[in-house]
Amino acid sequence: MAKENKKIEQSDICIGCGICDSVCPINTKLAKKDDFDPDTAKLAIRVCNGSAIIDEDTCIACGSCVRSCPVESLSIVVIAAA
Ligand code: SF4
Ligand code: SF4
Repeated sequence: MAKENKKIEQSDICIGCGICDSVCPINTKLAKKDDFDPDTAKLAIRVCNGSAIIDEDTCIACGSCVRSCPVESLSIVVIAAA
């Protein structure tokens, strides 16, 4: 799935609940690997020190985390074409 010039942005209202991490299809796919290690896997989104962090290289901007966040901390933004 292509990103189509979109990315996920996060506000500072994240409460670190981890729902975004659990609904992310990329994270789910990685977690099914036999050698999955949550500490080293290149997750698309992970909660660290009480706040979600997005890996823009891995995230496909599908929006699942945006729709699932209970405090609307995440949003999809369209990146202007270069
Ligand atoms: S937008 Fe990115 S971080 Fe969010 S669920 Fe989709 S792939 Fe995962
Ligand atoms: S971004 Fe939203 S869903 Fe993810 S940990 Fe923060 S509050 Fe929870």
